[in-house]
Amino acid sequence: MFRSCVIGALIAVGCLLAWGCSRTPYFIAKEEPWRAEEERACLAAGYVQRSPFLQARASLGGPNVCGALQPFSMSATRSGRVGLNPPAMLRCPMIPAVERWIENVVEPAAERYFGVPVVEVKVAASYGCRPMNNQWGSKLSEHGHANALDVSGFVLADGRKIDVKSGWWGNPREQAFLRTVHRGACSEFTTVLGPDYDRLHRDHFHLDLARRMNGRVCK
Ligand SMILES: [Zn+2]
Repeated sequence: MFRSCVIGALIAVGCLLAWGCSRTPYFIAKEEPWRAEEERACLAAGYVQRSPFLQARASLGGPNVCGALQPFSMSATRSGRVGLNPPAMLRCPMIPAVERWIENVVEPAAERYFGVPVVEVKVAASYGCRPMNNQWGSKLSEHGHANALDVSGFVLADGRKIDVKSGWWGNPREQAFLRTVHRGACSEFTTVLGPDYDRLHRDHFHLDLARRMNGRVCK
């Protein structure tokens, strides 16, 4: 049983970390030196400043199998105007990308389409040591590297909630707002997936900073 797991040392770790070994490894992970290099460069560049809304957390044991060298728990944007609920566990490069998306895209879009500020981004998932789409034997998800954020909706200052699931095909304002923030995410993240991508994403936007051979994905 164990032998089937040892396709590579990393896969074996994936098996041990996860649900134990079975015929198919829980996920497939490979050596990706760029991850640690990119994270160290981001930390050294000082893009990320600790604040009441951004707390450093203990290493998650990564960055090759699962985790990150220095993950952060992000509970709001730098300004404190827009909360992330629940707080998202993210690696360094994701933080400025999420900040810019919220400040430059989400906040103006809320004012434009609803005439009130956005106060909260609803986080459906951030860090999680799991395969892509939770499918046994798939490649390790970007969520496993704290390099992805799933957003299921937004809360406005007047209490209105704009959910991806109901709003993507909801009233015209909700549709326009959600399509604007989805499209706007594509200039900050290398992967943006929403309800038009597949049924697994019908209730959230998946945003990540994967490095891919074929450039960006924006669907
Ligand atoms: Zn996701």
